[in-house]
Amino acid sequence: MEGCLITFIGPSGVGKSVILNRLIERYPELINRSISTTTRKKRPNEDDSDFYFKTKKEFLEMINNGEFLEYNDYVGNYYGTSFESILPFLDEGKNVFKVIEVNGLKSIKDSARMNSRKHISIFINTPSRGERENRIRNRGKLSEEEIIARLKTGDEELKFYYANERYFNHYIVNDDLDSALEQILNIIRGI
Ligand code: ADP
Ligand code: 5GP
Repeated sequence: MEGCLITFIGPSGVGKSVILNRLIERYPELINRSISTTTRKKRPNEDDSDFYFKTKKEFLEMINNGEFLEYNDYVGNYYGTSFESILPFLDEGKNVFKVIEVNGLKSIKDSARMNSRKHISIFINTPSRGERENRIRNRGKLSEEEIIARLKTGDEELKFYYANERYFNHYIVNDDLDSALEQILNIIRGI
């Protein structure tokens, strides 16, 4: 049986990466991460299991070679999903998880090549905008300019969600992390 793609979508700071990392820690044999390609700088706690970090020139070459299922500019950097980071898992019957922004999600949901594939999208939010801002600030390492840009882009992502609910299979609020994880595990158990 073919595997399922599970995407986590939501404004910056809602906890998408932490949720995926916790799932992988707890269920390393069950949770496969689809590694995104990006031109953004590596954060101190990150390595090549988080992202394939590329220069802009390398990224543009990958676009020209037709390697991406989707890609998008997010707050000044490119992020993309290569075919190679998803299809081999699905073909082997494995579920594969990834974090993605709304335009990328839309491209995947609208893609003819993904039409026949199983895909569950989960929109994640915080209990309030103030909490989202606190989390972005406490995570650290961003300039004030980038914090503001991420908050603004996050507001747009929420607007996209409310205008396009059909692209999303589930909506969860990550207030208490363990409870959010439990809700996601219930979704995964139902696949
Ligand atoms: P995203 O990937 O959505 O941008 P992160 O996973 O990096 O967000 O989380 C943003 C920050 O919020 C991190 O410092 C993380 O530890 C923290 N965080 C995540 N979930 C919770 C939660 N339920 N309660 C409090 N802090 C959280
Ligand atoms: P960050 O820089 O915080 O790790 O990620 C910023 C945003 O990039 C995330 O909110 C996530 O939604 C988005 N993102 C991560 N990987 C991909 C990808 O492969 N494609 C697209 N379109 N967006 C991605």
